[in-house]
Amino acid sequence: ATEQWFISVDRELPGVGKSLRDLALEQIKNVKWIPAWGQKRIEGMLESRPDWCISRQRSWGLPIPAFVNSDGKTLMTRESVLAVAGHIAKNGSDSWFTDSPRRILGEDFELPAGFVFDDLKREENIFDVWFESGCSWHSVAKQAGWPLPVDLYLEGSDQHRGWFQLSLLPALGSMGKAPFKSVLTHGFTIDEKGMKQSKSLGNYVNAQEEIAKYGSDILRLWVASVNVQGDVRCSDELIGRSQDAYRKIRNTLRFLFGNIDDFDPNEKRIAYDDMFEIDKWAMQQLQKLIAGVTEAYESFVFHKVFSLIYNFCTVEMSSIYMDVLKDRLYCESSDSLARRSAQTAMQRILDCLVRMLAPVLVHTAEEAWAAMKFKSQTVESVHLADMPKVDGSVDWQSNEQKWQKIMGLRDEVLKVLEALRQEQKIGSNQEAYVTVYCEDEELAGILDKFGLDQFAALCIVSEVKLEKRAVRTSVTAEKSGYQKCQRCWNYWPSVGTDSEHPDLCVRCIKVISGTSCN
Ligand SMILES: [Zn+2]
Repeated sequence: ATEQWFISVDRELPGVGKSLRDLALEQIKNVKWIPAWGQKRIEGMLESRPDWCISRQRSWGLPIPAFVNSDGKTLMTRESVLAVAGHIAKNGSDSWFTDSPRRILGEDFELPAGFVFDDLKREENIFDVWFESGCSWHSVAKQAGWPLPVDLYLEGSDQHRGWFQLSLLPALGSMGKAPFKSVLTHGFTIDEKGMKQSKSLGNYVNAQEEIAKYGSDILRLWVASVNVQGDVRCSDELIGRSQDAYRKIRNTLRFLFGNIDDFDPNEKRIAYDDMFEIDKWAMQQLQKLIAGVTEAYESFVFHKVFSLIYNFCTVEMSSIYMDVLKDRLYCESSDSLARRSAQTAMQRILDCLVRMLAPVLVHTAEEAWAAMKFKSQTVESVHLADMPKVDGSVDWQSNEQKWQKIMGLRDEVLKVLEALRQEQKIGSNQEAYVTVYCEDEELAGILDKFGLDQFAALCIVSEVKLEKRAVRTSVTAEKSGYQKCQRCWNYWPSVGTDSEHPDLCVRCIKVISGTSCN
């Protein structure tokens, strides 16, 4: 049998009082395993693993720095290893195979008793490559002066036996602590039918081709959108579908950009307490998003980052907020509180959204950052900016219940309006006049405080009337009896009251004549 080199896992480590196996089983509890089952997996493998055979009989590789004399005694001391390391650093690892022990160790090297240079042979075995990759934390981090343990090791789910474990053991043996704070494992990409991807079958996706076809942001968005804790189906078609999500996110950014061009937050920003209720809602939704995205990024759950941001753009922004804002943004006077309040929220949303998107849509976010006239941080690249933090002065949690009620009622109104539209009684929602019959006293109170005109704006209808103390809560709507303002398209009582501008509402008359006071 060939003589081999082993790292013993059960012998007591000098000065530690326990074996490498026991130390490993103890230390893995201090590591964060993502997903959590990784801990059980590596634990089971550590419990049953044999001693680690680190020698290989190959002609190419890194030599084990030991010498043997003719009695079969091995020379490998701290001093000898350092002398070998010094020689190899100067002359390269091949010098082990060409230079004599005397040259390698140096003429002045003090050999321990029982050894003489003329009776020394170099060890011919090389290291198991896992021993080398298992020491990468040393060459990558320790030699560069970076703090250890490093934040994260990440690899496929086959590495609890391989790299993770074989990095842990050398680090424990030499430093007494794990080389990593957390370890993330992901699944593998498989083809559309769930088959393993292979070169011979040709059922794999070439990332370069996908980037050439869709751009790298689309490929990254696809990667961020899938749950990588398990295996991931991957094909050109699946990646291509991310284009739709990308466009929706990009359109949200475009809308925000398009409406804050004349807004200098340093001069025109509206304090949170003075903002319109709907703008406060948008600010609250933003904080909720920041809280969720931060947690998801910190736990490496990127598909949650994606779904949170995607839903924010498509639901809160696109189907609610951006629609609601149009009247204020396009019809109120440019410097009005109504418009500045909306712009304050929009500018803040853009600034935060771009930074949250930066790790995924790296180029789009950079392009957006460069285009922003005003930024929260003066850094030249979005990738140097800090992630947004939840603004403690925006009380999003305590307002959730109130908004649930208001948004629930809005859904009811929209349903009634949709039915009216089906019957062709109205074209746009603005044509409608809505009556809310309210049995729920709490809801009535919320609506009173919120303001019926604000609720009308939230539903994009011309007018809302509230009937309290109804038998049950319900909503009715009919076509407004008022005339349509030709500028803002609202059906308001004031349309036609001014003989000079018979087809405009009073709000619009004030705006165009420059007498709008707010
Ligand atoms: Zn008008």
